[in-house]
Amino acid sequence: MDLASYKKMKDYLICVDSDGCAMDTMDIKHIRCFGPCMVTEWGLEEWKDEILTRWNDINLYTMTRGINRFKGLAMALDEINTKYTPIDGVADLVKWADESPELSNAAVEKAIEATGADVFKKALSWSKAVNESINALPFEEKKPFEGVKEGLAYAHELADIVIVSSANLQAVEEEWELYGLLDHVDLLMSQNYGSKAFCIGEMLKKGYDKDKVFMCGDAPGDFDAAKKNDVYYYPILVRHEKESWAEFRSTAVQKLLDGEFGGAYQEEKIQQFLDNLK
Ligand SMILES: [Mg+2]
Repeated sequence: MDLASYKKMKDYLICVDSDGCAMDTMDIKHIRCFGPCMVTEWGLEEWKDEILTRWNDINLYTMTRGINRFKGLAMALDEINTKYTPIDGVADLVKWADESPELSNAAVEKAIEATGADVFKKALSWSKAVNESINALPFEEKKPFEGVKEGLAYAHELADIVIVSSANLQAVEEEWELYGLLDHVDLLMSQNYGSKAFCIGEMLKKGYDKDKVFMCGDAPGDFDAAKKNDVYYYPILVRHEKESWAEFRSTAVQKLLDGEFGGAYQEEKIQQFLDNLK
């Protein structure tokens, strides 16, 4: 099913993010791939434990959860430059990460062509090493959180379900298929369509009332996408994913159906989300 031929079937819509929300893939990628690859690329073994802890705080456990990899890298290296050891060219990397309209391997390659600077060569080498190390992770370690399948199966009886993810379409499809989650999904929207906010906006054009829609996500980017479209937000709380999915099933879906998601319940969920990422 694609967006063009998609038709609203139920009155209610639930949008669900994949990485770190339905699929338990973020911790493993950051703890085993992103952070360690940075330590290796920049020779930071002497301060490894502290640096990895800080990497995980930036990318998993605080309000910068889910930021672009190059923004996370610039932020981490800037701190390392101040706190532990000089990082050659870090100011150029920080400036690029702030200002470049695109932050991807292709964009780093352009920066290398334009400047010839070592810091960009290292950033590209790091990014490629990260991809290789993620690809080498055993498939069975990229699993859904406990309660996701039950939650989605229940919700799908009552609402249309759409995946709204910024990850690679094929990877998301494979992971969801493997665990039988695609049975409970009506449409998969990924980075090929555009931003999460854009995807939710496209779904609203199918005729859902805004107060009959929530976005279920784990990161500030998901919250922003919901806010931009004036729909509700249901957070999956990092380190409490199992409880969040249990509540999704026991409470959140019914609140939406009863027209009681807004107001006190929404405020409580947002406050929990913000407090959990401090
Ligand atoms: Mg996510």
